[in-house]
Amino acid sequence: MTQSHFYVVAVDIGGTKVAGCLVDFGPDESRRPEPGSIVRQPADAQQGSNAVLRRVFAVISEVLRQAGSEQSQNIAGVGVSAAGVVGEDGSIVSATDLIRDWAGTKLRERIMERFGLPAVVIGDVHAHALGESHWGAGRVSNVTLLAAVGTGIGGAVCVGGRLLRGSHGMGGHIGHVSVAAAGTAECSCGRRGHVEPIASGSGIIAEYEQVCAASGRSYAPDVDGRDISRKAVEGEKEAGLVIRTAGMSLGIVLGSLANVVDPDLVILSGSVTAAGDLWWKSLRDGYMQSAMDIAASVPLVRGELGDDAPLIGAAEAFVDTVGARGEKRSVWVEQKR
Ligand SMILES: [Zn+2]
Repeated sequence: MTQSHFYVVAVDIGGTKVAGCLVDFGPDESRRPEPGSIVRQPADAQQGSNAVLRRVFAVISEVLRQAGSEQSQNIAGVGVSAAGVVGEDGSIVSATDLIRDWAGTKLRERIMERFGLPAVVIGDVHAHALGESHWGAGRVSNVTLLAAVGTGIGGAVCVGGRLLRGSHGMGGHIGHVSVAAAGTAECSCGRRGHVEPIASGSGIIAEYEQVCAASGRSYAPDVDGRDISRKAVEGEKEAGLVIRTAGMSLGIVLGSLANVVDPDLVILSGSVTAAGDLWWKSLRDGYMQSAMDIAASVPLVRGELGDDAPLIGAAEAFVDTVGARGEKRSVWVEQKR
């Protein structure tokens, strides 16, 4: 290892777990930064913001403890991917009740105080998109539209490797775009008719239960997305309808957004992208139905980095913001000697 290696402690804070690792930025800047072994703890989300912060501190401490001596001397700081909308100052501006009392948490300040290291905090979907657009499926793309489809639906737009954060840090809320098929379905944001309640993982389950109730089909009380995808493949009418509607509706939204953003690539990530061929076909059909001719030829692909995406993205956000790379990086390495 040469002294031009440097490391960023990356942390990913979600509703169920806090994960962290050391990300290795080697001397070759064209090489993907490598996440080291990952430390995981339960998030304790329902115990509130302070409990989650304690977990975050514990994860960072453990990552620092595991670092070798040469690594420890070359840690540039902490990059954090956090659930919720993150303000310019690295505090949580707004959040769902996934983590109790999360809004208002001065995350960046608390981490800097505790560890005496510079820190950068961005939203989890933004971190995910930054990871994919720099080092994953979007590495050869210039304008990337990303949709993260899991329990909810998030998204981001990256231009030239930079995120469109927006004026309040909320840029990219793809789940909160209206689509006709959603009718008056209530969204997690309190509005009606957004795509999230019919196309997210939890939305697919809720829709399936409703469709089955209407047709009289019985289903297991703990039915999950995987069951519904399997039933759709087996030819069950209700499951097929719900998966088709979910894929098609999200496709229509992405096609409409492509008309605005003019991306050269659309990346889909999150658990719902494993819903199978019917979902992907419906997604592409919806996209083609809505995208104008030029945008219609843009490829829709699956993300490549999986769970590493938010960690690599959070580290990348730190490097982009603090300027640990290139000229500034050599100055930084000099200063550390
Ligand atoms: Zn909404």
